[in-house]
Amino acid sequence: MASIFTKIIKGEIPSYKIAEDDNFYAFLDINPNTPGHTLCIPKKEVDRLLDLDEETYMGLMAFSRKVGLAIEAAIPCDRVGLTVIGLEVPHVHVHLIPLNDMRDATFQHKVPQSKDDFMEIAEKIKAKIK
Ligand code: 5GP
Repeated sequence: MASIFTKIIKGEIPSYKIAEDDNFYAFLDINPNTPGHTLCIPKKEVDRLLDLDEETYMGLMAFSRKVGLAIEAAIPCDRVGLTVIGLEVPHVHVHLIPLNDMRDATFQHKVPQSKDDFMEIAEKIKAKIK
């Protein structure tokens, strides 16, 4: 069965899209640690990061860097953190999280966003993609 993220790529489930190319897709996390928390995924559905072929792994990191630089330019924060966990959704995803302190990186503290908040943040980040 297709993962929830494959359904997002196909547009079967809505998302606040940030960026897309032939092989990768970036969208806002629906339950963000902080505003601007973004997920970058390969279109190829693979569960575990280290099971990606090297080309896809390197491509995902390059794509995540591009999106991360846009987040850093759009969202006031100390820095953008990058982490891969994958215990919830079995489709590789890189978390890009605007950080100001360690709590922002813990996944214990969440900042609920309204639909308008998500739309505004997505537009701000998209405008900074180079
Ligand atoms: P992990 O698998 O790395 O533990 O976390 C999965 C992440 O995906 C979580 O941060 C969760 O909020 C996010 N997530 C789960 N389902 C959806 C969804 O349907 N849409 C979006 N945008 N994010 C999701």
